[in-house]
Amino acid sequence: MRTKPSAPAPADAPFEADAGGVLTIDLDALAANYRRFQDTAPHAEVGAVVKANAYGLGLRPVAAALAEAGCGSFFVAEAAEGRAVREALKGRADDATIYVLNGLMPGAAPVFIEYGLRPCLSSLAEIEEWKAATHLPCAIHFDTGMNRLGLSPGETARFMADNDWSGGLDVALLMSHLACADDPAHALNATQRERFAHIVETLQPRFPRAVASLANSGGAFLGTDYHFDLIRPGIGLYGGNPFAARDNPFETVATAHARVLQVKEVPAGESTGYGASSTAEGVRRIAVLAAGYADGYFRSLSFPSLPDLRAQGGMVALAGRIVPVAGRVSMDLIVADITSLPEGAVSRGDMAELIGPAVPLDEVARRAGTLGYEVLTSLGERYRRHYTRGGRIPSGVAGNNKGRSVS
Ligand SMILES: *Cc1c(COP(=O)(O)O)cnc(C)c1O
Repeated sequence: MRTKPSAPAPADAPFEADAGGVLTIDLDALAANYRRFQDTAPHAEVGAVVKANAYGLGLRPVAAALAEAGCGSFFVAEAAEGRAVREALKGRADDATIYVLNGLMPGAAPVFIEYGLRPCLSSLAEIEEWKAATHLPCAIHFDTGMNRLGLSPGETARFMADNDWSGGLDVALLMSHLACADDPAHALNATQRERFAHIVETLQPRFPRAVASLANSGGAFLGTDYHFDLIRPGIGLYGGNPFAARDNPFETVATAHARVLQVKEVPAGESTGYGASSTAEGVRRIAVLAAGYADGYFRSLSFPSLPDLRAQGGMVALAGRIVPVAGRVSMDLIVADITSLPEGAVSRGDMAELIGPAVPLDEVARRAGTLGYEVLTSLGERYRRHYTRGGRIPSGVAGNNKGRSVS
């Protein structure tokens, strides 16, 4: 699995001399991915899911860049995140619409009212509580087959049959969520779409202002009949592949680098790292890198793999080549085996690419036995974060960076 390299590679820019790990977030690539969704669903509005700190990439800069790209509807998981979006967009997009996917927790309505947030109401109990608290706009989430959040089929039938439920309710959005959008061939996709279309047909006359939304990133690529009025992508905006088994149509947004702290030799027959798990017959050269599982570089990327895990060892890019992880990933350190590189190719102070154009997010995730979503949302607080535009890191940043990535 490969992604298109983001251009120019952030590895060309210098980093602070004292930074161990550096996370570069390409806001131009983010905007390009937003436009990619607009091109895919030209007749629908393109909202953005920015829950979990914008999938780990930083809510404030991401929300601001998306608003600038034309996004007017934002989705978060909980009210506190919605409040953060509201504050991030103050003076930039004060009229942004903010939906809270996890709905209304008991007694939480005042927070929604204060910050102008719209709950995605997921049960008749939530609808009742919202109606009793306010006549402000809300969304209603229908469960069409995922069996997670949303009005159950029984509740949906009651809601559709009985007009009394609608009184005093300003429904701005009718929504449902696909369980299998990462697998375009899955039969549940069409089943959910048909069930949702029936709900929308029944309810839109009653709520003429309401827009309908079904598709996440993967759903946006299932065809125009999945678009309805509004799509709500997340992962694709951030450069992750929404599909389990298709090429990634998105540009790389996040690039993680780690500093080379030391280059040294491991004598023949000796091991490196905790558990003495990695031994070689011959002499090895290694680079010790300044990042680890505390930075979200999963311990399951150790090589040889940890027992009982469906994982493969990690790979990093150094000096224009891809080299393997050696031994256990520890909290703050990774060891890379650079025996295959020419002597002198890697020096103390260089930067290794852990995730990015040369080592795609979804490849890292696959090797770790997880998804790009989990890798992004696990990126640690310790990375020095840079938000770039035009491929440039903000000024005032200096340091050695000979580690060029390959693509
Ligand atoms: C997270 C989420 C999305 C976005 O999904 P992606 O696969 O990241 O595009 C959309 N809708 C709901 C209800 C979600 O929970």
